[in-house]
Amino acid sequence: MHITLPNDPVRDDVLAGRPALWLNPNLKPDAIWDSRLPIRPSQVSEAESNWLLLGALLEKCFPELKATGGKIESALIEVNPMREALGYSSSEFGRIFVKADNELPVAGSIKARGGVYEVFMYAKALAEAEGVISSEKEVKHLKSDNAKSLFSKHTIAVGSTGNLGLSVGIAARALGFKAVVHMSSDAKQWKVDRLTRLGVEVVRHEADYSTAVEQARLEAEDDSTIYFVDDERSQTLFFGYSAAANELANQLAKAEVAVDENHPLFVYLPCGIGGAPGGASYGLKAIFGNAVHAFFVEPVQSPCALVHMMSGSQDLVSVYDVGLTNRTEADGMAVPRMSEFVAEVMKPLLSGVFTVADDDLFRWLWIAQTKQSMRLEPSATAGFAGPEFIVNSPQGHAYLEQQGLREKIANATHVVWTTGGAFVPEEQFAKFMERGASLANPN
Ligand SMILES: *Cc1c(COP(=O)(O)O)cnc(C)c1O
Repeated sequence: MHITLPNDPVRDDVLAGRPALWLNPNLKPDAIWDSRLPIRPSQVSEAESNWLLLGALLEKCFPELKATGGKIESALIEVNPMREALGYSSSEFGRIFVKADNELPVAGSIKARGGVYEVFMYAKALAEAEGVISSEKEVKHLKSDNAKSLFSKHTIAVGSTGNLGLSVGIAARALGFKAVVHMSSDAKQWKVDRLTRLGVEVVRHEADYSTAVEQARLEAEDDSTIYFVDDERSQTLFFGYSAAANELANQLAKAEVAVDENHPLFVYLPCGIGGAPGGASYGLKAIFGNAVHAFFVEPVQSPCALVHMMSGSQDLVSVYDVGLTNRTEADGMAVPRMSEFVAEVMKPLLSGVFTVADDDLFRWLWIAQTKQSMRLEPSATAGFAGPEFIVNSPQGHAYLEQQGLREKIANATHVVWTTGGAFVPEEQFAKFMERGASLANPN
């Protein structure tokens, strides 16, 4: 299939693989309350309650969660030491924070919010259906021999570029499930090794992420003992991620950050299939409404959300359909086709999408480690392009004009969502740093 994208100020840049900020013409004020959307903000609160219910069980399965009573949380860090190196020292950039999901416990990436949630919710449902527990109070007993003998007869399967496989595999094995992870060709070897050590069966595909997911889905279809975590369709994953919004809102309040029509909040979220950034954005819209401006970030060769949403097409458009390659070092975002469900939800809610070149990812990775001791994987750094696009690009200016924010931009808060990295092995990280250093200090 070859698709011709409609006229747009950044169409040529996107097609040429040059970094660009695309503004979503379908963004509508107050759309979060529109009953034509397929989901409701009340479902975010339900997910928050579910997370609380799972807390005691999570704490039993993962001792590292003792400190938070079973909550899987990350810090919000104001990144003043990095500002100069990023080119953000001037006051028009307002305040700049990182939401440090790179340090999330259990899975070392934002996938801990989605994959762990879906596996544990499935375990709860299965145990209820099989009579292993009879009330929600008993959920904490699902770390037991009795429950384990049930779970060990069931398999949890997933397709992944790496991190979702890690989070689902870790969660499934912690409860005693069998687990099969279908990895795309982009998956890094260390992620495969880590899963294999946990007793997860890893199936490597010589194909891209969408194909790996399709294969996994097919295998699960004719076997009722296999539960398939469907990254392209799952609302459970989406709402697992959405609970991050309330966590961030509480942290912003604690940091005395105002968010209202005079104090806009810009959030920059790395996007693969769209579930993680979509869930977090949806949750934030439910809290802050029009005062939050959600932007997705994608690699220049894998901008699946950008090209699909720009196309205006009913049918999903892939990056291949417009002549891009889906080649990137940012494995968490090496996705050629976005989730149709997320596309529908985000159509009136997303402010825009910008793209970044791989070299910049490594440069920011080096800066984050050197100036802020943050350990990021390449995908996780993409949001650092956000403030520059908003404050200094023609498209950013058009957005501020359209939103009536020209005079208010110095009051803004920018949150760069750093989505993964804690689990990257030293040797691999050293290689990332080497490449980053040569880009940050060219001579
Ligand atoms: C998965 C992932 C993303 C994107 O999440 P999607 O749900 O695929 O959009 C971004 N960064 C990292 C590090 C990831 O692992």
